[in-house]
Amino acid sequence: MREERRATWARWGTPEQAKPLPEAVAGLLKQVFDVTPPGPVTVLDAVSAPAPALAEMALAALVAVVGAEHVGTEAAERALHASGKSTPDLFHQRTGELPALPAAVVAPADHEQVLAVLAVCAEHRLAVVPFGGGTSVVGGLAPEADGYLTLDLRRLDRLVAVDPVSRTAVLQAGLPAPRADELLAEHGFTLGHVPQSYEYATIGGFAATRSSGQASAGYGRFDDMVVGLTVATPRGTISTGRAPASSAGPDLRRLFLGSEGAFGVIIDVTVRVRPLAAQRHYEGWRFESFTDGAAAARRLAQDGPRPTVLRLSDEVETMLGAAGRGRGDGGCLLVVGHEGASVEHAVAQTAAVLRECGGQELGPEPGEQWAAHRFDAPYLRDALLDAGAFAETLETAAFWSALPGLYDAVREALFAALPVPSMVLCHVSHVYETGASLYFTVVTAYGDEPVARWQRAKAAANDAIIAAGGTISHHHGVGTEHRDWFAQEIGPLGVDVLRAVKRELDPAGVLNPGILVP
Ligand SMILES: Cc1cc2nc3c(=O)[nH]c(=O)nc-3n(C[C@H](O)[C@H](O)[C@H](O)COP(=O)(O)OP(=O)(O)OC[C@H]3O[C@@H](n4cnc5c(N)ncnc54)[C@H](O)[C@@H]3O)c2cc1C
Repeated sequence: MREERRATWARWGTPEQAKPLPEAVAGLLKQVFDVTPPGPVTVLDAVSAPAPALAEMALAALVAVVGAEHVGTEAAERALHASGKSTPDLFHQRTGELPALPAAVVAPADHEQVLAVLAVCAEHRLAVVPFGGGTSVVGGLAPEADGYLTLDLRRLDRLVAVDPVSRTAVLQAGLPAPRADELLAEHGFTLGHVPQSYEYATIGGFAATRSSGQASAGYGRFDDMVVGLTVATPRGTISTGRAPASSAGPDLRRLFLGSEGAFGVIIDVTVRVRPLAAQRHYEGWRFESFTDGAAAARRLAQDGPRPTVLRLSDEVETMLGAAGRGRGDGGCLLVVGHEGASVEHAVAQTAAVLRECGGQELGPEPGEQWAAHRFDAPYLRDALLDAGAFAETLETAAFWSALPGLYDAVREALFAALPVPSMVLCHVSHVYETGASLYFTVVTAYGDEPVARWQRAKAAANDAIIAAGGTISHHHGVGTEHRDWFAQEIGPLGVDVLRAVKRELDPAGVLNPGILVP
């Protein structure tokens, strides 16, 4: 029986799924940060909200399109859809200091209903926010609009077609990732897209944010898997992707990948699929320093063999991970995973390269441990928040030559903006021939106004990223939170191009106002 995956309140998982902090980490928190648990979390049923400011006519038109049972106007339903899952989002839910709630949550059944809802929104000048799994961490679900509608895509949850000859599948946008994999597995295929938000995020969300997963070294980023898209806009529908490759003008797929609901609503995605892996092998390697480990990762990314998973923790992250497992080896941990029809040869070749690069073989245990706990971090964030510690992440990417400078610049900016003591952990999360991404985790005590303080630290880190030549986001997207730095990254002409596209597709300006497009 399939488990229903819906947005949860004030935490990542449900309270029943809560994971305790490892004893050593809890001890460290008490000792270093002297944290005390905060007050009780606001209960969802206690959330009150003014009656939705939705014109009678608009409400009646929406009900006529999707049916009354698919238009939610209760405070709890609206509150659940008012934000994503960044730590500030969780804080607002925990304290009950919520942002503006949507006027209603509408769940269309199909493409035609999405087009009809968009027409109602355009006619009534009602802002509309596509909602997939609700896991955005960049304010992608909180538009700058007085009153808006949430378009929940959960009913678009079918595997439409599989083409085993071409190895492609058409998946509807509202499919949660685990369900998509379950349906593909019935045909012997997998997506191979495993972000840490896997349990809740959807196919449409992955495409709309150009997501990247833990196995992207081997399977590629989500935007590389997409061979076609159907997008509903207030002006009608656009379908892209007739062939595996094309020289027929600019690639319109790329216009909608990463468009974060600002240009249209993704209805379905045609993706390249791979056969389910018959073999898998995960292992750990120790490097003396982050620099040595990064050099080894670069060697594999550039000269091969390319593992399916390649992930390098810096000294602090390695130390904390080891402390959680009651060990302390020092150095930096590189997790290497191979998946495929037959992995023996690749495992041996990879080992030869890593040995040559000065790596010390730790065997399968650290790799298997990582794989077994690959989805734990957001549950541990809940436990940290329960304990009174603030934990949040940020990520970027740069070419290999700029990576060491970027690493130093972000750490310096964060330490300068955060109170003492604070912890900044980092890992290389994705590798490419030409560069890699860096994923930072920050842990500090709540203190006064933790959200405002984090926003100052994040702004300082964002400035440092742009100055050091990194991108403002490698996989979380732009939303509202990265928008100003995104504008710096693409320049005024780039911003004008995006605005022109939006004007053409969304003349009334109702799609996700304030998100992505400056
Ligand atoms: C704990 C945690 C871990 C994460 N780990 C990763 C990770 O490893 N890799 C990664 O890439 N990201 C990660 N993220 C970020 C997030 O999960 C991704 O951005 C994901 O792709 C969003 O999918 P979603 O279905 O939840 O989209 P939502 O959060 O619902 O929406 C994201 C944005 O896309 C728009 N949108 C959603 N669906 C559609 C659609 N059908 N058509 C048009 N626009 C749409 C929304 O309006 C919004 O602006 C993580 C987030 C959390 C909270």
